[in-house]
Amino acid sequence: MYTAPLRTLIDELGRLPGIGPKSAQRIAFHILKVPNEDARRLSDAIAAVKERTTLCDQCFNVAEGGALCSVCADSRRDDAVLCVVEDPRDIVAVERTGQFHGRYHVLGGALNPLEGIGPDQLRMRELLVRVEEEGITEVILCTNPNLEGEATAMYLARLLKPMGLTVTRIASGLPVGGDLEYADELTLGRALEGRREVEA
Ligand SMILES: [Zn+2]
Repeated sequence: MYTAPLRTLIDELGRLPGIGPKSAQRIAFHILKVPNEDARRLSDAIAAVKERTTLCDQCFNVAEGGALCSVCADSRRDDAVLCVVEDPRDIVAVERTGQFHGRYHVLGGALNPLEGIGPDQLRMRELLVRVEEEGITEVILCTNPNLEGEATAMYLARLLKPMGLTVTRIASGLPVGGDLEYADELTLGRALEGRREVEA
């Protein structure tokens, strides 16, 4: 029914998150229809993001063409406060609130035993090393307000509290079960402001 290249494109698009077979087909036919230069811009953008984007050596945020991301490279940020998030997208969400001026640590996900994600699959060891070496006085656990995010926050709190620093969790009030990246700035800003010390 399709030519081979069209079939390949539909298959590849269908592997993207949130794109079902119908959408994949619609996007593929759209690409077929647009001018060559528009299609080229899309394929160039995909190639460039893979070639030029790396992970920050320090916090594992996305970085462009250097060892450090823009937050870690910024000397005006507060070294004493570290915000722990699951994903680089969450950094974008927290930055949008304008409420946080410290630094970040990206875990690379949340604990999820059913999917085989344990502490060793996340950047927890790297976090503990940073807490020991960087003079951090507060860690804000800013994982998602869902089952995995809460479990991850509690697990980290048990590791971090004995190290003698303040460990806080963003306040409830965020839509439960949701992802941070979908929270609006105001709600997330309030959740950050209203963070509470974790009892352990
Ligand atoms: Zn960084």
